[in-house]
Amino acid sequence: MTPEQTQILASVETFLARRLPPAEIRRRDAAHVPPYDLLPEMGALGLFALAVPVPEGGLGGDWATVALVQDALGRHAYMAASIFNRVVGFGLATIRAHGSAAQRAELLPLLMAGEAFCALALTEPQAGSDAAAIRTRAVRHEGGWRINGRKTWISDAEGARWLILPARTGPEPAGARGISLFLVPTATPGLAMTRLPKVGNNCMPSFDIGLQDVDVPEDALLGEEGRGFPHMMSTLHFSRASMAATVTGAAEAALRIALAHAQEREQFGQPIGRFQAIAHRLVDMRMRVDQSRLMVRHLAQLIDQGAPCRREAAQAKIIATETLRDVADAGMQILASAGYAAESDMQRLWRDSRLYTFGEGANEVLRDSIAREMGLTTRGMA
Ligand SMILES: Cc1cc2nc3c(=O)[nH]c(=O)nc-3n(C[C@H](O)[C@H](O)[C@H](O)COP(=O)(O)OP(=O)(O)OC[C@H]3O[C@@H](n4cnc5c(N)ncnc54)[C@H](O)[C@@H]3O)c2cc1C
Repeated sequence: MTPEQTQILASVETFLARRLPPAEIRRRDAAHVPPYDLLPEMGALGLFALAVPVPEGGLGGDWATVALVQDALGRHAYMAASIFNRVVGFGLATIRAHGSAAQRAELLPLLMAGEAFCALALTEPQAGSDAAAIRTRAVRHEGGWRINGRKTWISDAEGARWLILPARTGPEPAGARGISLFLVPTATPGLAMTRLPKVGNNCMPSFDIGLQDVDVPEDALLGEEGRGFPHMMSTLHFSRASMAATVTGAAEAALRIALAHAQEREQFGQPIGRFQAIAHRLVDMRMRVDQSRLMVRHLAQLIDQGAPCRREAAQAKIIATETLRDVADAGMQILASAGYAAESDMQRLWRDSRLYTFGEGANEVLRDSIAREMGLTTRGMA
């Protein structure tokens, strides 16, 4: 790490130790309290502006530093990592790439200051992995757009100031063509949110959203009309890189908890870590986490070079999310009853980890996209 990166990470650690000590993380998880109140402080530390170029009001740093911050956030408290990614890996990336001058001028300062954030409202009941099957439609109406439809599993929608919402504007009933992106303020009349109970990620609430005659102005269109799908694809590597880095940090946390337990817990007159079955399991966990981190760093390097990295971003997301799933599962086995207890940090990591192998692009679908890049055709894919 450079001296500057060391300094940034030290300030992140200080901030997390003060605002999210372990007892506070457990309290928020049990009470389902999202960490939105931490955003302005993260903004003041310059974390959101790190990799935004200076002419756009940012600090002009690199993605490698963002990835280090994401790893540290994921290791300490995934709830902080997840909201960080919503700003950096999704909101800033999308608005910078596709926002009009007016949208960039309005949103970028707010996003970088941590004063507001955007949620992605893509998924619909019939359109999960097959995202191009969305039916929500926007039609021109009195100088603006009128949106009708339904979105589901939209995370952090209630705390977000805007939804970035793909809707059909073309004549096509399905498929990637004729979809446009809209920037919809969550306070717009006609938008009704219902919270969805779920297994984990308690501090990232998810919502079903009904849209009934939701009127937005003409300039709510984000990017070019009809090009919403290619627009989303063009910035996907930022959100995949973000998830890969933060879940690598979470896997490191699970490994550390398991290692400490294996060194302390005694059975049959010795620490359980001295049993080869446990020691080898911990070694495998160490190797998987290191492998994942190396892939995350390689991807960050490609992003900083402006090199094509679609395949690497998909690979990093798959490797890191499957590492966390397996490391958290092995961690539960090593902690046994101590991990199954409600107050254990391992059970939270284990519950939360189950989402990432299918959230933000199921790993099966990502493997299909890698297969296509390798020149293999896979059935059933557009
Ligand atoms: C907690 C949570 C938060 C979320 N947050 C958001 C959000 O903020 N915004 C948003 O828009 N969406 C969000 N989602 C939705 C998420 O992106 C979808 O769950 C995901 O895309 C998978 O869709 P699905 O759940 O409908 O599964 P399905 O698409 O029904 O898939 C079911 C299974 O079939 C497999 N499968 C599907 N197609 C293929 C294929 N071609 N080949 C092989 N296997 C296949 C999948 O991999 C999966 O294993 C969230 C979901 C959850 C659970």
